[in-house]
Amino acid sequence: MSADILIQTEAVTRRFGGFTALKNVSVGFERGKLTSIIGPNGAGKSTYFNVLSGAFPPSEGRVVFDGQDLAGKKQHDFAHIGIAKSFQITNIFPNFSVLENVRIALQAKVARLNFWKNRDSLKLSDEAYVLLDKVGLGALANRPSRELAHGQQRALEIAIALAADPKLLLMDEPTAGMSPEETRSMMDLILALAGERTVILVEHKMKMVMGISDRIVVLHHGELLAVGKLDDIRANDEVKRVYLGQ
Ligand code: ADP
Ligand code: MG
Repeated sequence: MSADILIQTEAVTRRFGGFTALKNVSVGFERGKLTSIIGPNGAGKSTYFNVLSGAFPPSEGRVVFDGQDLAGKKQHDFAHIGIAKSFQITNIFPNFSVLENVRIALQAKVARLNFWKNRDSLKLSDEAYVLLDKVGLGALANRPSRELAHGQQRALEIAIALAADPKLLLMDEPTAGMSPEETRSMMDLILALAGERTVILVEHKMKMVMGISDRIVVLHHGELLAVGKLDDIRANDEVKRVYLGQ
């Protein structure tokens, strides 16, 4: 595997009973880049997301992360391996403050790395504030999380995901249900995060990812339709056909 590839699927097929949701998908995702997975509804994007994040083992083929075959790994191994996902399950404790939510996530990492002897409680708060500032929630740190607006809750979920300091951050339709304003600030945040780590973004709305993605993967009917840089994807007749009338 090329050193530039952080995670790669090799001929991955995923079935649900007799239905094949993902067929023979081989893609290498470049380290340090923002790659977006797009496709119409039902294309297999979320299934692929779940394969990449380890929630669904492939029916055939394999997933290799940082040179390591992910076969047989359990969900709880993934944080340790360096894969974090946002927007699948909400990990927010609504009655805890925004700050406490990030501290809990940091604590989990600290416990995992067995660093606790070197970390005091203040230091954890400092780290939590750094993450909250990064996602634009610094000023709301002491609010109960349940008081956050929808877009802010999603930003908090990202801070929680970042607490594990993942090598790979996976996001499935992060702007779903957001106002145009919330969407804009979420896209700005994703772009900022992409500057510092590998990000894979699943998005139904093609124009959302056009301006920000280093690479785009297009799925259609569970198959890889196209992969390339923005210009290649824009010029691709099959992609145009699939998105016509969307
Ligand atoms: P997308 O995220 O691109 O909209 P999905 O990956 O959610 O697409 O779904 C792709 C196809 O697989 C759809 O036809 C969907 O109905 C089917 N599918 C997804 N998850 C399951 C499941 N758990 N059981 C059965 N069929 C599923
Ligand atoms: Mg989906």
